[in-house]
Amino acid sequence: MEPLDRSTVWPYDERGEPRDFYYQRFGNPTVAAAEAALEKLDGGTALLFPSGAGATTALVLSLLEPGDTIALAGGGYYGTGVTFAALERWGVRVVEFDQTGPPPDGVQLVWLEAPSNPYLTMPNLAAAVAHPAPVVVDATVATPVHLRPLEHGADFAFHSATKYLAGHDDTLLGAVVCRDEAVAEELRTFRGRTGIVAAPDPAWLLLRGLKTLELRVRRQTETAAFLAQRLRAHPAIETVRYPGLGGVLSFDVADADVARKVETSTRVIVNATSLGGVTSLIESRRRWEGERVPPGLLRLSAGLEDPETLWADLEQALG
Ligand SMILES: *Cc1c(COP(=O)(O)O)cnc(C)c1O
Repeated sequence: MEPLDRSTVWPYDERGEPRDFYYQRFGNPTVAAAEAALEKLDGGTALLFPSGAGATTALVLSLLEPGDTIALAGGGYYGTGVTFAALERWGVRVVEFDQTGPPPDGVQLVWLEAPSNPYLTMPNLAAAVAHPAPVVVDATVATPVHLRPLEHGADFAFHSATKYLAGHDDTLLGAVVCRDEAVAEELRTFRGRTGIVAAPDPAWLLLRGLKTLELRVRRQTETAAFLAQRLRAHPAIETVRYPGLGGVLSFDVADADVARKVETSTRVIVNATSLGGVTSLIESRRRWEGERVPPGLLRLSAGLEDPETLWADLEQALG
């Protein structure tokens, strides 16, 4: 493994000049090693942040001016809209749009999600990159195993590395991978000045997690596809959403009470928020998103357990 270097300070060279690393806020070797590993997966120039939400904040404040508008994919990760709403006081405006079609005119940033969580729609990347504004693709759920947004013309690939990239529910991190080196340098400078920086310990756990990313995501995708197929054939399920890639699916039971019964009746699948870890998780999204989602919507993140065991668990909970 790459070493874990927790230093906050490194000595200047013999001429009294700073070396590559001199103060942790401006860069450290463990974070740099994790960023290099991400660049191998996504292309471009990678920058790590202390969380996905921290990466969102840094990217928006670094790119936009007061009065600028973000076109945000509707039905995507609830927290992204919450973060943008917290920035409204500083003049950030947001309009939601249907990401399966083109973004609206007159916006300065386009924010897509591949696939959106929990509605699991895929963005129309060709329509978005034809728009003059820079395009961010939150590919947290797809991961670079299924989608490399920069190859499709996006300006930024975005990840909550807390999810699949780190992969074990023990690391909070965000990542932005930039197509343009000069834009990445501006974001790096902004990150150092504002202090929205990742620490070495989570970066080291990310490095470890990335070594098994492909194996985990391929298996989780197979399991999610299998569970989606079984759920579609189940009489108690009204709708199943699965885009054919990734380890997350969502489905609707009759109402909020049934959803609460199902999520509290599983024995293997844990009733908790988040996604992308080795343990399967289920939760009703209504508790967080309110009217934005159907009352009976359950989101399921497939882990690495035996698929038949997971199906048996779901079936008994649905019963
Ligand atoms: C979790 C998540 C985020 C936010 O990331 P944190 O690491 O929790 O701050 C952003 N986008 C998506 C799609 C997520 O699932």
